[in-house]
Amino acid sequence: MENIRTGSDFLHVGNRLLEWYKNNARDLPFRQTKDPYKIWICEIVFQQTRISQGLNHYNNFIKRFPDVKTLAEADENEVLLYWKGLGYYSRAINIHKAARQIMEEYQGVFPAQYQDILTLKGIGKYTAAAVSSICFGGKMPAVDGNFYRVLSRLFADDFDISNSRAFTYFSELAALVMPDNVGDFNQAMMDLGSEICKPKNPLCGECPINEDCLAFSLQKVTNYPVKTKKVKTEDLALTYYFVHRNGQFLIRQRKDDFIWKKLFEFPSAIPEEMEPFITQSKTITHKLTHKNLSIEIFNVAVSSEKEWNTFIAENQYLITDIQGSHEKSFPKPLENYIQNSLKD
Ligand code: SF4
Repeated sequence: MENIRTGSDFLHVGNRLLEWYKNNARDLPFRQTKDPYKIWICEIVFQQTRISQGLNHYNNFIKRFPDVKTLAEADENEVLLYWKGLGYYSRAINIHKAARQIMEEYQGVFPAQYQDILTLKGIGKYTAAAVSSICFGGKMPAVDGNFYRVLSRLFADDFDISNSRAFTYFSELAALVMPDNVGDFNQAMMDLGSEICKPKNPLCGECPINEDCLAFSLQKVTNYPVKTKKVKTEDLALTYYFVHRNGQFLIRQRKDDFIWKKLFEFPSAIPEEMEPFITQSKTITHKLTHKNLSIEIFNVAVSSEKEWNTFIAENQYLITDIQGSHEKSFPKPLENYIQNSLKD
């Protein structure tokens, strides 16, 4: 069933939400600003990260890169380092590129129009809508999973959120309840979705719009949102060699787009002559968004200086100190492995 609704019958729902937001908005540091740069960074940081987990990272990032110019002038590896702990490193790479784009194409001034914001590297419709509405009075709803969930419950609407038209469909639905102050409305929906209308066990009794919520009155809240398509998860096996000698080990920087672009990793192969130096191996499992990784890491303690030098010369690996490895960005499982090796 696709519900067709017209008119302004539902505007009072948006207004009620605004009232609630006025008294219940989460007290977050980025709520005190309308600086589009800071709002942009926080939207990207908190897309997949809980506020409590990401807040320190966000504050450190803003402290080091307080504006577009500082970020644009920074070295990419330093930007990656400040992103450490947040995962999804491609976002940090895109943020850095977009900062440079703003310097080159917009004379260092963050663009105010939704369509212009959308041209920036790594910024999609959701972020463009959030930044333009919060900072510049833009009128686009920032439709994300929170909108899908709240709106499909509010209207007991079984439109499939895995359908490719879901974004357009829920944007139109949002327009029915959206008051004039779209910036606050978008933030109110974010807060309602994360604090009250949660995916599991929503707090309907405390919800400011429960009187209008059809799923609640039908006692069918758990039926919504409807999602039919499951995203396929792929199993992937990786092999690494932790090649070390005298407190140093060998690394290289990943180039490909596949996973972990621009992060550092260990060699993925060694010549036969080095195999006798293998002392042990360990298998680590790790989940990425659509991948289950099984990573086998061999510990290679090289006692021969000749083998060590030959291997480096033939493969152009970088040498780094185990103690100082925190100054480089490694994928989480490799980072954990290095930290554990320090304890041994
Ligand atoms: S009443 Fe419950 S299901 Fe409906 S919008 Fe509120 S929290 Fe969500």
